[in-house]
Amino acid sequence: MQRVLLAFLPATLMAALAAPAQAQAPAQSPAAPAAAPAQPQRPPFETRKVDGADGVYIFRNGNHQAMFVVTSDGVIATDPIAYGRPTGGQTYVDEIKKVTDKPIKYLIYSHHHYDHIAGGKAFKDAGATVIAHKTAKERLAMLKDPNTVLPDETVDSEKTIKLGDTTLELSYLGPNHSDSTLVMRLPKEKIIFVVDTIPVGTMPGRGMIDFYPLETEAFMQKVIAMDWERLIPGHPGAPDGRLGTKKDAQDVLALYQDASAEMKELGQAGKCWDQAEKEFKLPKYAGLPGYEQGLPFVARRYCALWGRGT
Ligand SMILES: [Zn+2]
Repeated sequence: MQRVLLAFLPATLMAALAAPAQAQAPAQSPAAPAAAPAQPQRPPFETRKVDGADGVYIFRNGNHQAMFVVTSDGVIATDPIAYGRPTGGQTYVDEIKKVTDKPIKYLIYSHHHYDHIAGGKAFKDAGATVIAHKTAKERLAMLKDPNTVLPDETVDSEKTIKLGDTTLELSYLGPNHSDSTLVMRLPKEKIIFVVDTIPVGTMPGRGMIDFYPLETEAFMQKVIAMDWERLIPGHPGAPDGRLGTKKDAQDVLALYQDASAEMKELGQAGKCWDQAEKEFKLPKYAGLPGYEQGLPFVARRYCALWGRGT
């Protein structure tokens, strides 16, 4: 649990260390870190209601989180987030039961990565129908992960789930982070749940391993054009687990575009992999939590694009 603190501290320190180098551009830096209140220690998992939205909750386990919606006719859950946590799926089901005695009707996978979707058995046992994008099912069927339940139903490009007084739209908008990501939108509440593609207030990192750079830019434009006000990310937003806004989505798109432009020069100059990855920096983003750890993953992915064409 100390990790919560540690996750923020290095970036703060990095920003402080980086400050002298940015001395010529003082307008950039001063705002945040010193004023931030001390982070209270975080319990291993927790459930919280989303303010101002009837029946919308966030279940967090470790550094992963999922949205669930309690309707008058049952519960729509997403992502079991139980990779490496054998009892995590049951913990999530138990948390839902603390909030409602309504049955869990659906479990929807955001995409096919196990860190978000392992642990679905507890939901199947509770009677839920598991839904995912069709590519997620194809990939999972090949991989046969013992901890990950195959979807019962699949989505091609669009599907609308109506349960009680709630409408949830599932949309596939092309490859982005993964080729199986569904954007989930609650039109009445103007909330979307998008996992891994749009980190909120943090630096992208390991998720770049499965990432389609050019397609992601198109995906992001489509997401930004949708009607929503708040974004629930698959990992807690920074600071304080905040939700994202359209400004966050625009900032992440800008980061991807800046990273791409920076590496394009290095890659086309024949410097990928080693030299380019050494030279690649994004000083504008040095204050983001996770910058130091995430930078090599961002560099590697764009080196592959501009240095190899992959
Ligand atoms: Zn992922």
